[in-house]
Amino acid sequence: MQQAAVSCGRNPNDIHLLAVSKTKPVSDILQAYENGQRHFGENYVQEGLEKIQALSQFSDIVWHYIGPLQSNKSKIIAENFDWMHSLDRIKIAKRLNDQRPSELAPLNVCIQINIDDESSKSGIQASETKDFLEQMREFSRLSCRGLMTIPSATKDINQQRASFERMQSLFVKCQEDFKQIYPDFDTLSMGMSADMALAIEYSSTMLRVGTGVFGSRT
Ligand SMILES: *Cc1c(COP(=O)(O)O)cnc(C)c1O
Repeated sequence: MQQAAVSCGRNPNDIHLLAVSKTKPVSDILQAYENGQRHFGENYVQEGLEKIQALSQFSDIVWHYIGPLQSNKSKIIAENFDWMHSLDRIKIAKRLNDQRPSELAPLNVCIQINIDDESSKSGIQASETKDFLEQMREFSRLSCRGLMTIPSATKDINQQRASFERMQSLFVKCQEDFKQIYPDFDTLSMGMSADMALAIEYSSTMLRVGTGVFGSRT
């Protein structure tokens, strides 16, 4: 990550590593923790909850939910996680807002963008983003932190670049349009093990890396 940042003229401190620990045991998370990692991402509600409970004495771990969310599970996210990256429905936003306990800080959220318009993927369309962010204004228990995307799984470098570039300009535009309303809108959650360097080139601020940190999943 540092090398990729330096080679495109970015400050490495602006780019954060989210270690995606889905399917990996608590012992792996602990090992990463002992090496200084604090941000962990999970994509299954029940599995994530079990790990949060098992590691509850480590109060400086920051838990990110990055998977699809059914509305009947929103309460678990609102009560236990610090971040939610995959928000794509106002109905879920309303539930998370209502269910966020008052003693906790507002839940950090990123809006998931289906940047390649794939029918199989969750996320809103890029053209819907402005309207979605307008509607988010009423939710005082959510902090709008940025955008998240999972581009199509292509090996075509030009297509990858094109998708990342669309996300980059959408992110910059949203930051400009909403900086008064969402002063903490600073996160572009983009890039995984296979496309980290490219994502950094296109302004990603948070890389979600599973395989690259913990090894392949079975
Ligand atoms: C699994 C997952 C990742 C990590 O993928 P790797 O290729 O293992 O780095 C990132 N983001 C999301 C949403 C995931 O589900």
